Amino acid sequence: MENILVTDNHIHVDPINGEGPIEVAKKFQRAGGNVMIIPNKPTWTIGVSCSFQEAMEQVIKYVDKININTDVNAFAMVGAHPAELSRLIKEGISLKNAEDMMRDALHNAQKLVSEGKAIGIGEIGRPHYEVSTEELEIHNKLILYAMELAAEVECAVQLHTETSGEKQFSEFAKMADESGMDRYKVVKHFSGPSILEEENHGLKPSLIATRKVIIEGLKKGNDFLMETDYLDMNSRPGAVLGPKTVPRRTRELLRNETLTEEDAYKIHVENVEKVYGIDLSNL
Ligand SMILES: [Zn+2]
Repeated sequence: MENILVTDNHIHVDPINGEGPIEVAKKFQRAGGNVMIIPNKPTWTIGVSCSFQEAMEQVIKYVDKININTDVNAFAMVGAHPAELSRLIKEGISLKNAEDMMRDALHNAQKLVSEGKAIGIGEIGRPHYEVSTEELEIHNKLILYAMELAAEVECAVQLHTETSGEKQFSEFAKMADESGMDRYKVVKHFSGPSILEEENHGLKPSLIATRKVIIEGLKKGNDFLMETDYLDMNSRPGAVLGPKTVPRRTRELLRNETLTEEDAYKIHVENVEKVYGIDLSNL
């Protein structure tokens, strides 16, 4: 275990509503974690007048702080959460203008990736709650647009969507093909154990690190990522898994031999390097 790297593929840090980058990274590290992939939080969690650009710049700043002040290696993902579109529409902004604002945000995300400040576009996607047909149509157009942007700079996307099974994975795989991006660079964040190719159509599932989901996933293979979706919000401490969960779960499953060292290497290093095009060999 000592020399096995551990990656949390979707973990948030929030110094405004929670403990912030350094504290979360230190907790993660003390539990045996090494790599954090950190998507920006939605604008409204930062401030009423926070812009998309600011939200993205914030997460890049947090990632720098972690890399400078701790031994954890952090990487930023930048995107516009689908709930941002719903909020813009609720505020009375026209569908057309709201869509344009989201497109601008995604374009800015691509720019940050091309500048090397972030490793992918996300989280993007469509809501886990019911929306009108008109709104859903825009979400789907934005997913395709984000994928086209990702294809241009050959980066990954992280999808936030409704609970997804074979039908949804197949739909997103078709969108990836249409956009020209590689299917395996489309990460389904907060995924269940859809490990088999016939279940995920070549997309990369990022499994929520509960014991049940990970054990279920390992029965079918090791071609997946692991995450907590930790929110770092003091008001919702138990909303999702804590920041120590991925290293602890990995250690526990290695100890009881549910997970082999080869599996752990594939999940935490190989898959991460391949999806994001990063090199973890020097860590
Ligand atoms: Zn998230």
